[in-house]
Amino acid sequence: MQKDWEQVRAKLKYSLGLNVFNNWIEDINLISIDGGRVIISVPSRFTGEYITENFGKEIIESFKNVGRVVTSVKYQVRPSDSSSRKSMEINTKTAQGSTKKSGMKPDKRYTFERFVVGDANGKAHIASWQIANEHEENSNSLYLHGNVGLGKTHLLHAIFWMKLSKNTKLKHSLLTGQQFSDYFVAATKHGKLLEFRERIRSVDAIFIDDIQLIHGKKGTTQELDLTLDTFLSEGKLVVATGLNTIDEMDEFGPRIKSRLQHGFVEKLEPPDYDLRLRILKQKLKDRRSNNFDLRFGEGVLEFVADNISGDIRKMEGALQRLIVTAGYLNCKTITLDLAEEAITDLVKFTKPPTVEEIMKAVADYHGLNLSDLTGPKRVSNVVRARQIGIYLSSELTSKSLPDIGSCFDRDRTTIIHSINKIESLKSRDKELEYSLVKLRRELLQG
Ligand code: ADP
Ligand code: MG
Repeated sequence: MQKDWEQVRAKLKYSLGLNVFNNWIEDINLISIDGGRVIISVPSRFTGEYITENFGKEIIESFKNVGRVVTSVKYQVRPSDSSSRKSMEINTKTAQGSTKKSGMKPDKRYTFERFVVGDANGKAHIASWQIANEHEENSNSLYLHGNVGLGKTHLLHAIFWMKLSKNTKLKHSLLTGQQFSDYFVAATKHGKLLEFRERIRSVDAIFIDDIQLIHGKKGTTQELDLTLDTFLSEGKLVVATGLNTIDEMDEFGPRIKSRLQHGFVEKLEPPDYDLRLRILKQKLKDRRSNNFDLRFGEGVLEFVADNISGDIRKMEGALQRLIVTAGYLNCKTITLDLAEEAITDLVKFTKPPTVEEIMKAVADYHGLNLSDLTGPKRVSNVVRARQIGIYLSSELTSKSLPDIGSCFDRDRTTIIHSINKIESLKSRDKELEYSLVKLRRELLQG
């Protein structure tokens, strides 16, 4: 019988492909063939169900090929082997016993109390709050996306802390896309794939930060696809963050995309001036709780908020720079002059793009000449590009509408019409949304 099994395995390796074979079949054993029924031993119910459902036919077929007539495949779950579990490098810890080094270290500072809410992140904040306080099983996933430094990781950890405060025994896995890949690859290499799977699926909540870091690695994406699918179909909590919209995650299968799309999906936008200023104040308040008594002269925080936009981390960097400079010069108050001197280089790098830069980027993106944007052409693609240019200029620069109008050689009504047009189209028109994301990213980088 075992000899037949060896032959069946060889055939399955061929018919299912090495990848699937290593992932699923390699570790299973044959227990018996009873009448027309094959019984295999598997490490868990999940694996058993998955194998019989997806590869049952191939298994039956392969038995036929070696001259055995079987009609069905059943499984038995073997007792878990606890000694081998110890070697797994994935953190499925509870709050009390969290000493393992694997996974991502939750950051104590990233809580809801310390998160400042504004237009740019309001919806993401509400969704996060809701999912953190949700008891029902119907809305069990949240995907937060947006450019770097806009608060995705902060919110992910805030949800984590809130969940943990409600249930200190919550079994969870908090990791980055990169860590997921690393563990998966290591598990594959050491023949511990099934354990990896059992382990990661035994938790009640999974938090994956920067999911795009798995992007492009085929085996790992498939594995994540499967993991999330299992989680969501079991009503477990999935919180993920990433740079891209769900549609842009080309490597992920349609199943997982549509599942994530059914949960909460929220985007974080770059904060406006008001929100930037409030975040700066919050960051100072956070520090003040640690015996920090440096004074900031009039206009200093406003200067920072005014000149550093986009990535909030850059603003924190500027604040840190001011504090270090004050310490170095041994002064108790940071004046506006000092601030200007200390962070000019940061300001230079993060200055918002000019209207001219935006026009150039938009023209290049659409394969047009710069003059098309200011000229009279009414061809639809030119009109659309012009509207995008106007829209981004109003969003990314502090220029007034008449100023933008004169750059594009258009009157105020046209400017307002263009902005409204893009605003109303962008949520419905995926292609448009995509180009806005691309252009913004390009313009805000550096
Ligand atoms: P992302 O994950 O989107 O790249 P992070 O969550 O790491 O961004 O945020 C970068 C930094 O900015 C963190 O220190 C975070 O605390 C801070 N930050 C972002 N948004 C806010 C906010 N709304 N209130 C307070 N701090 C924020
Ligand atoms: Mg992050």
